[in-house]
Amino acid sequence: MKEHFHSVMSLEDYQRKRDFSKTPEPAAGHAAISAVRGGSFCVQRHDATHLHYDFRLEMGGTLKSWAVPKGPSLDPAVKHFAAQVEDHPIEYGDFEGNIPKGNYGGGSVMLWDRGTFQLIGPESGEAQLERGDLKFELHGEKLAGTWAIVRMKGRGKGGRAGKEWLLIKKKDAAAVTGWDIEQHAVSVKTGRTQAEIAADLPSKKKAASVKKKAAPRKKKVSA
Ligand code: MN
Repeated sequence: MKEHFHSVMSLEDYQRKRDFSKTPEPAAGHAAISAVRGGSFCVQRHDATHLHYDFRLEMGGTLKSWAVPKGPSLDPAVKHFAAQVEDHPIEYGDFEGNIPKGNYGGGSVMLWDRGTFQLIGPESGEAQLERGDLKFELHGEKLAGTWAIVRMKGRGKGGRAGKEWLLIKKKDAAAVTGWDIEQHAVSVKTGRTQAEIAADLPSKKKAASVKKKAAPRKKKVSA
């Protein structure tokens, strides 16, 4: 694996200068490598046939995706159902807009949160998914702290078998008891509400930067 190779190579000098039978310092190994494992994540608020949230983690060059009817919750007492859906391309992580009615997923899509995640534990993300228990730490604009997504055993028949999961916030400093997702229903990308996205109104964040540009400038020094 390319990343693994780079991590080892960059620690070559560190390794060569030390005798690990004599120093308590850690040898370069899995701890150093796992500290950088992870990728991007995003959550979209999708007002399709039913309002739901789409939770996505970058893994193996795609976004592993789950549809979460009630959305993620920072409250550790709440375990929200998450239906695994098809992988999405990495580029989807920046998408916000309207899917025309009559198309698959027709309706407005808000980029509700985005950021990065780090895997917890020595296993690869793929191995944790296969085992049905993926643990990670989120660094988003709204979501943070440690989380797990756990496959429900013996649930789902036919095509749904193995695709029913629970998204769970672990207890830590980022946890918030009684947290209400509907109090945070604004785009991280454009500052728009779902109704404003559906109506194709302009980004509120762009509007802010235009105002700055319109502010009086310093006079140019004439040539
Ligand atoms: Mn969706």
